[in-house]
Amino acid sequence: MQNPPIAAIATAPGRGGVGIVRLSGAGLASWIEPLTGNAQSHSFAQPRVATLTQFVDAQGQGLDEGLLIFFPGPNSFTGEDVIELHGHGGPVVMQLLLARCLDLGARLAEPGEFTRRAFMNGKLDLAQAEAVADLINASTATAARSAVRSLQGDFSRAIDALIDPLVELRALTEATLDFPEEEVDFLKSTQAEARLETIREALTKVQASAKQGKLLHDGLTVVLIGQPNVGKSSLLNALAGEDLAIVAPVAGTTRDVVRAHLQIEGVPLHVIDTAGLHDTNDEVERLGIDRTWQEIEKADVAVLLTDAQHGLTAAEEAIIHRLPEGITRVTVQNKIDLSGGIAESDALPISAKTGTGIDTLRARLLAIAGWQPGESLFIARERHLRALSDAADHLATAVAALPALEIFAEELRLAHKALQSITGEYTPDDLLGDIFSRFCIGK
Ligand code: GDP
Repeated sequence: MQNPPIAAIATAPGRGGVGIVRLSGAGLASWIEPLTGNAQSHSFAQPRVATLTQFVDAQGQGLDEGLLIFFPGPNSFTGEDVIELHGHGGPVVMQLLLARCLDLGARLAEPGEFTRRAFMNGKLDLAQAEAVADLINASTATAARSAVRSLQGDFSRAIDALIDPLVELRALTEATLDFPEEEVDFLKSTQAEARLETIREALTKVQASAKQGKLLHDGLTVVLIGQPNVGKSSLLNALAGEDLAIVAPVAGTTRDVVRAHLQIEGVPLHVIDTAGLHDTNDEVERLGIDRTWQEIEKADVAVLLTDAQHGLTAAEEAIIHRLPEGITRVTVQNKIDLSGGIAESDALPISAKTGTGIDTLRARLLAIAGWQPGESLFIARERHLRALSDAADHLATAVAALPALEIFAEELRLAHKALQSITGEYTPDDLLGDIFSRFCIGK
């Protein structure tokens, strides 16, 4: 069954030099003439070549002038026919071009629908499709580079490198189950245990990499607690250093809660300033405070800023009291330049002003995050980590089951299935819906 053509503005909303409307579907070659008003459209719109043209409405009146690129399927992003209209990047002209595509019979694309079609048509596997969104949402250069590596298939290849020997071992096991008289020799003759051990070791390495990749995806959420004037803003600036300029806020609902996005060695750092947490009767403000608390409850680290000259206020004591159990606490004593370099015993002495101790704090935060610098990484999500850990559990159960071959075979099958869910070979429809609905429209 053919999917109906879809259309969307592919560029970000707002004004820009160029804006792109993208179409995907079957039989789009015949749309070029009504879009351009050019009867010779088949000859001028060469596949994958940008052609300067006007774009016209149903009456042949010019809507815009720009470039048209026709990507006949299957050599396109989605695997279907794709047309890109590169017009002038104004919101009204983009809406007019989009409306023209809808008039011609396209329907408005849902979030992530282009990428979903690419996945359905085998142009990308699921891990690669997720990397498209992760690249767009990347908040640091390291996260972006890792997302590109996943998009180019590094993560999928690492998974395939686990699946291939697993499939081989499964085939040997199943064959032996079919010929029970050979079962006694199976373990020895096939070196099943050694093979499985090799797979488990490789899986452990992929798990470690994926954990790093998830850190690049999620970042580390840090709650900053301290009374006014203790130096919270100064610390933020000191931590940000020269990187501030290339740190972009992550899209999503948390933008108004998390006050600052920094990075340490490419690991995104989301800092929640608790300065705004106070009693209030204002409904809107209270909602914001509730949201901040929801974020704090998911945070990884609480940094408590103290100043030798002042104690904590009751409000800060209350915040500390309400922190979740699992959160790691780092106590920092700021303005050490004023107190002559002596800090309380368990506090990390720093000076946000002179920079003393900032590198130590950075290193402490990275260590808490579990970051191992300098590895070649792909980006990863919670879903991937769970699948890898399911696979590891099944492989462990398989080893323990020996010499019971039926159980061994079944556990190998389950491990295989868990790994396949990462690249999307076994992925329920509702999970796909959930993954792609988080994309932006036009992607
Ligand atoms: P916040 O209210 O917690 O965000 O505090 P600020 O970062 O605005 O700092 C309050 C004041 O303390 C400012 O005048 C800063 O310049 C000063 N300050 C912050 N950190 C230090 C420090 O390490 N040493 C010294 N001497 N002054 C600092």
